[in-house]
Amino acid sequence: MPHVISDACIMCGSCEGVCPVSAISAGDTQYQIDPSVCIDCGACAGVCPVGAISQE
Ligand code: SF4
Ligand code: SF4
Repeated sequence: MPHVISDACIMCGSCEGVCPVSAISAGDTQYQIDPSVCIDCGACAGVCPVGAISQE
């Protein structure tokens, strides 16, 4: 299952740059992961300062 971003996201942008397949983009109120693109590598979860990213 792909990783997902919760509403705890503070929009710091750290996760976007580490995703190897560019699955992460900024939404209106939080960043979001395109589940059809995510390869479930976990890199984004490791850099999120507020623990907003988890495996679905
Ligand atoms: Fe990108 Fe990996 Fe995070 Fe999926 S788990 S959004 S592929 S960094
Ligand atoms: Fe949001 Fe975490 Fe990504 Fe920062 S690293 S934009 S807080 S999900």
